[in-house]
Amino acid sequence: MLSESSVRLGTARSVIRELFEYGKTRAAEVGAENVFDFSLGNPSVEPPAEVTETALRLLRESDPVAIHGYTSAQGDAAVREKLAASLNRRFAANCGPDDLYVCTGAAGALCGTLHGLACPGDEFVVFAPFFPEYRVFIEKTGAAVRVVPPQPADFQIDFDALASVLSPRTKGVLVNSPNNPSGAVYSRETLTRLAALLSERAAAYGHPIYLISDEPYREVVYDGFAAPWIPSLYRDTVVCYSFSKSLSLPGERLGYVFVPKGCGGGEPVLAAVAGASRAMGYVSAPSLFQRVCAECCDLTADLSVYAANRRLLLDGLRACGFTCVEPGGTFYLFPQTLEPDDRAFCEAAKRLDLLLVPGSGFGCPGHARLSYCVPTARVERALPVFEKLARLYR
Ligand code: PLP
Repeated sequence: MLSESSVRLGTARSVIRELFEYGKTRAAEVGAENVFDFSLGNPSVEPPAEVTETALRLLRESDPVAIHGYTSAQGDAAVREKLAASLNRRFAANCGPDDLYVCTGAAGALCGTLHGLACPGDEFVVFAPFFPEYRVFIEKTGAAVRVVPPQPADFQIDFDALASVLSPRTKGVLVNSPNNPSGAVYSRETLTRLAALLSERAAAYGHPIYLISDEPYREVVYDGFAAPWIPSLYRDTVVCYSFSKSLSLPGERLGYVFVPKGCGGGEPVLAAVAGASRAMGYVSAPSLFQRVCAECCDLTADLSVYAANRRLLLDGLRACGFTCVEPGGTFYLFPQTLEPDDRAFCEAAKRLDLLLVPGSGFGCPGHARLSYCVPTARVERALPVFEKLARLYR
């Protein structure tokens, strides 16, 4: 007898992966230039030159045994010093090296945090549209997922809906701003209101409600938008960060959990994260890239390609009749589909070799996600195809 849920998770491919594989097959049949794949959120710009230079320097100049050796389970102490200093410089975070747990990307950070916090009977709240893996990560802890329906006018928070799902069972609320898939960045006003509501309910229930801030896109924001630093607005915040998108290093699997001082009002939250991570085998994150990321943590990849693609797509799609909230960050666009059935719409797009991901998988039917971390030439070639798709619905 095996774990049924694990077998199911290990067997079913995600819709996004299916599309990506389909795109590769189609490219072999009709030529890569005739397939417009907007399915996968894999950064398309290279990491900053400093990343490569630092990795090479470290490999050449360090003691080879040490650079490939285990670090402390929580992450190398000097690495945590540098990461903390960066957070303090940029956000006045009052972070010390012992407030960080270095781990494998945002996925590792989220799993360590959720497993560390979850007790039997707990619930975690997520806001649609949401990264589909949240359901997987939360349910594997034994906790339940409560979904707050989307507010498609601006993809900020529907506070009435949130108020109705909070309960004494709520252990945490997961936010992801800038957001995958909508690109929305929560405003300071939204976050202040969220903090007030959670503080009020936590006091009423007599236990903390943790705000888990999943921030792999923190630096991927565009002109006129800024992602507020959430721990300055709400005490019981746990930050889950990743270098996957900011430094274009998704395959190196590096991120961290930051537990601010005072978080949980004295509960040993970082110890819980460390213990849960230990129990899952997430100790001593990749050693070389811990050091590389610590040296390069104030940098980002060149985001100008994403900015150009975003402008082209937003203007182009609106011109052919799509309704789309202007994304403040990430490299995703989340327009309304031109028919209510987003899966049928994405099938129609697929027949034109335009690969889009249905919004239903993100808990937000009637929309489709486009990942525009692709070469700008692909965006330019795709615009007439979007027009052709729109014509089918006129
Ligand atoms: N959270 C969100 C919202 C994401 O979009 C992703 C990856 O795309 C992750 C978490 C996982 O990131 P990582 O590759 O750093 O584990």
